[in-house]
Amino acid sequence: MTLTRLDKPVQFLKGVGPRRAESLQRMGILTARDLLYHVPRRYDDASTITPVALAQVGMDVTVVGEVRSKGILPTRRGLRIFQAVIQDDSGMVTCSWPGQPWVERNVRKGDRILVTGPVRFFHGRQIQPREYTLLSRASAPTPPDPPGTIFATYPASEDVPQWVFRRLVDLNLDWLLGQIRAEEHLPATDRGALGLIELSAALRDLHRPRTLAHVQTARRRLAFDELFFLQLLQARVRHDATRERPGIVHARTNRLIRALHSSLPFRLTGAQARVLREIYADMTSTRRMNRMLQGDVGAGKTLVALFAMLLAVEGGRQAALMAPTEILAEQHARRIGEFLGDLPCTLEILVGSATGRRREEARARIASGGANLVVGTHALIQEGVEFRALGLVVVDEQHRFGVRQRMALSEREPRPDTLLMSATPIPRSLAMTLHGELDMSVIDELPPGRQPVTTRIAAPDDRAAVFQEVNRRLAAGRQAYVVYPAIEESEKTDLRAAEAEFERLGAEDFAGRNLALMHGRLPAEEKDRIMRAFQRGEIDVLVATTVIEVGIDVPNATAMVIENAERFGLSQLHQLRGRIGRGDEAGLCVVIPGGEGETTTARLAAFARTSDGFEIAAEDLRIRGQGDFFGAEQHGRGTELKFADIVEHEDLIGPARDRARGMIDADPQLAGAAHQLVRNHLDRRYGDRAKLFGVG
Ligand code: ADP
Ligand code: MG
Repeated sequence: MTLTRLDKPVQFLKGVGPRRAESLQRMGILTARDLLYHVPRRYDDASTITPVALAQVGMDVTVVGEVRSKGILPTRRGLRIFQAVIQDDSGMVTCSWPGQPWVERNVRKGDRILVTGPVRFFHGRQIQPREYTLLSRASAPTPPDPPGTIFATYPASEDVPQWVFRRLVDLNLDWLLGQIRAEEHLPATDRGALGLIELSAALRDLHRPRTLAHVQTARRRLAFDELFFLQLLQARVRHDATRERPGIVHARTNRLIRALHSSLPFRLTGAQARVLREIYADMTSTRRMNRMLQGDVGAGKTLVALFAMLLAVEGGRQAALMAPTEILAEQHARRIGEFLGDLPCTLEILVGSATGRRREEARARIASGGANLVVGTHALIQEGVEFRALGLVVVDEQHRFGVRQRMALSEREPRPDTLLMSATPIPRSLAMTLHGELDMSVIDELPPGRQPVTTRIAAPDDRAAVFQEVNRRLAAGRQAYVVYPAIEESEKTDLRAAEAEFERLGAEDFAGRNLALMHGRLPAEEKDRIMRAFQRGEIDVLVATTVIEVGIDVPNATAMVIENAERFGLSQLHQLRGRIGRGDEAGLCVVIPGGEGETTTARLAAFARTSDGFEIAAEDLRIRGQGDFFGAEQHGRGTELKFADIVEHEDLIGPARDRARGMIDADPQLAGAAHQLVRNHLDRRYGDRAKLFGVG
């Protein structure tokens, strides 16, 4: 890695002595470059700043002024209030921090500060700041901001307050920008095509924007870089997984594929046929397949997986399908068995509860190749399970497995092709960002003739009527779900609420019916036992927290009531709703919000309006933002996005990926002179992240 002057320790910068360098280091700012990339988290401009004289009681304002006087006022009740009088060109106003006397230490006479908060009436007009920012210190003045300036707020710490960042940037920015100019890695033609500005201009505008529009444009450039380098890491993972060493070239004879085709009582949907072409192309090429298959509940993924498995078998290999629970594994095995009919294949099931002789026999058939289709749970990746010639691994509900578990079967030599299945539709932009190392196949079409589920929003007052309607379905021999939220933080109270409701429902609304309560704290075997009883129809109403198995198929259950529905994500609601309407009778889903509120109503209305999982996922992403989606999957991999917003910058994701994949395909190690700037960037800014990805 080539070091430049930007890689020198921060201490080398103007205004940074040994003490300050230490404080900066504690914030993760080690080098000059780190300071350059330490950009403001918030901007205020004239359009959001109110002249002091115009701040009126009842308004919520942001004002900028100089501290004229300050002091601590004790009150009769022992509360201590810090007060500061600030002044701008238009006048003076008192700011008051009740109960926060310690603010006194941070604010001095002559400082320029920015405060945001409500204007109250209390012995006169006063602002009670929610937030304040020290813009400059009287003793270390930065030049006054020209009129119309934007006030930038840096992420700061106790040791390194706001005004220090403003001053450091003021002293060093021109020099820093001069240095970064030499590191531009995106040629002008590409920038032009994507509507992106130069890196140095972007960093300049983030530190010293002329307008808020400049901030947007600057963020867009850094968003692209962020997406591009993330894609570059993922493209390397993809290269290692699929191209580094040759994959299995499956011999397609059509012997089994054609037989299955002609035995089906229906035609494949266009989407199924398309994704199968993508899968077959991977499997019959020298490239190894590492593909994700996305599709809504009921889109027909299992059948697609079965065709792929048959391709492996007709070419002389074995195929394995791994599911997260025994119930799901058994369900897959049963369905696959039905599809196969008397096709010349041997299907084996291997789950954890199989022990002793049964397990040994299953293992022996898998090892000898006597079984060529194998369905199972984690039991498949346990010590002692050997395949004769494993050619394809399918992982159902892939997100329920850890990365290691997911890949365990695929790491054997020769490396089998891998198909990861997911029944949680996510928008394409999100899928590309989260799973850039995978190729993506999407079934975006449901088989024709599905009974739609009717979705209604009911007021809490109408609960009794809703349960009566459910009762009519029970009387006709159907089954139902009643779902309560239980999020981890409040699981105990939630569980108590669900238990109480369970008692009440059994005694009142559903008196005389068989009810069961299922929740996250039950041991896995107990959950399985309840689920099986429900499948057999021995339970009429399953009262559950969100633990109802995704993918579980009980066609006789046609009604679902979801309580406190506002506490679920839209995609989660959609998953829940997917449990009903699997038979030939139209399903009924009633959501009952616990409270009102505009967003609640808008979100639930969006959910009731459409049954398209991809549409719902896009709405969910728009409403909740990307944080939730990245939280779970990316946390700890160091790939959280700081600049890129996958909704706002959606148009950059495809180009970033194409550029990254093109580069890695042409020069996997980025060793060529043409890629030196990119490689340096990757090493410098993402060096340790590259290690986390197993790339380096
Ligand atoms: P998923 O796994 O994607 O949720 P499944 O594979 O369980 O969906 O399919 C749901 C149901 O639809 C199954 O009963 C399956 O037999 C049926 N099915 C699959 N493909 C088609 C099709 N092209 N036309 C009609 N029914 C289909
Ligand atoms: Mg292949």
